[in-house]
Amino acid sequence: MRGPFGRGWPLSAAAGSDVVVVAGGLGLAPLRPLIRAILRRRDDYGEVAVLVGSRTPADLLHRRELAGWQERADLQALVTIGACATAGGIQALRNFADVRGFLAAVYATPEYVSTLSTSTPISAHVRVDFELQGCPIDGRQLLEVISAFLAGRRPAISSSSVCTECKRRGTVCVMVAHGTPCLGPVTHAGCGAICPAYHRGCYGCFGPMESPNAPALTRQLKVLGMDDDDVDRVFQTFNAAAPAFRAASGGSEGGGNEGGGRSDHDD
Ligand code: SF4
Ligand code: SF4
Repeated sequence: MRGPFGRGWPLSAAAGSDVVVVAGGLGLAPLRPLIRAILRRRDDYGEVAVLVGSRTPADLLHRRELAGWQERADLQALVTIGACATAGGIQALRNFADVRGFLAAVYATPEYVSTLSTSTPISAHVRVDFELQGCPIDGRQLLEVISAFLAGRRPAISSSSVCTECKRRGTVCVMVAHGTPCLGPVTHAGCGAICPAYHRGCYGCFGPMESPNAPALTRQLKVLGMDDDDVDRVFQTFNAAAPAFRAASGGSEGGGNEGGGRSDHDD
């Protein structure tokens, strides 16, 4: 379905089908009547899933109603999508420092900015049924996840590394052939090894693979000329707070708000 801008919702056309409603930020407001209409005639539809996101927990709209929906047995699964939802995103760099330092460096009047002191994955706060990694995610993987949940099966998302994708597409390894540092050995597959295909090292935008051997890769990165600061920086990007990358970068030894604490602003 598309909308909402004046198109209406073809609810009768969806009768008998599964329905997925995706809303971000203010987008939930125009979708709320649609969700209510579906729930009033719940038996007319198959599986119904509502995915809602917002910039911060405090920005979530209609929280009381959302809580009611979450308690319903006939509304489905929470799937988190992307590095911000699964690992806190690049803004999780604040976890290793004092966020007030960043505010003072970026904004002329930081006293007007209200923000969280840490950035944490959604799974740190509520039960999550599946995490789809990537910054950005891969559209084919998203389709697979949605299809799998609608079909009641586990998504067929590989837990292997970007290296396996290099091998599958026949890309020459940039680390072996050219000595280019690459996070592919510890990074979750999904992009199709785009960067090595363009003779660049992977910088880990899909986050850690299952069971990454980051210490072994760190040793190799140092053989290739990186020092400790370089290694910290290369792991402290989009998925800086993902446990495997955080450990590899020494992030847990950093500044004031390590690892998931909550500030006065947190909801
Ligand atoms: S280029 Fe990177 S991702 Fe590809 S095989 Fe080499 S180390 Fe692995
Ligand atoms: S940084 Fe790594 S995971 Fe991201 S697109 Fe490039 S190769 Fe893929």
